[in-house]
Amino acid sequence: MIRFALRCAKAHEFESWFKDGGAYDRMATAGLVECPVCGDTKVAKALMTPRIAKTPGVKGRPDPAEATPPPTPAKAPAPAPAPAASGAIPAQVLSMLQRLRAEVEKNCDYVGRDFAEEARRIHNGESENRGIYGEASEEEAEALREEGIGVASLPWVPRSDG
Ligand SMILES: [Zn+2]
Repeated sequence: MIRFALRCAKAHEFESWFKDGGAYDRMATAGLVECPVCGDTKVAKALMTPRIAKTPGVKGRPDPAEATPPPTPAKAPAPAPAPAASGAIPAQVLSMLQRLRAEVEKNCDYVGRDFAEEARRIHNGESENRGIYGEASEEEAEALREEGIGVASLPWVPRSDG
């Protein structure tokens, strides 16, 4: 068995064991060696760096850059009452929701109670294709989903600036 330090096209470094050097070459060529972080199969041998202390069982590092930012809603997040969350929302979650709200407000048009109607118009090409937000009941949101219109319900928190 031979261990190679590998690196994917996105510069994640990881290690894998192979029967021999030839096994690595065959597997890499066949796209069978994939990055455990992102699944990329374009991997190459990285330089082996000498290790002073060995930490067994540690795989990769958490990479904050990996966290995907909330995608700009292509269409229509429908703020709805938070489903049965009880008690206080943890500060971390709250601030994430506040950032999400700010993003939505920045990138989407507010259409209020016309949300369901406007989402349909956009879906049917009768309105400009853009992200919108507003109020919709669970029934309306469900009906939109059944029509194949992407909607998301967000717990609508108070803004961070009050
Ligand atoms: Zn990777």
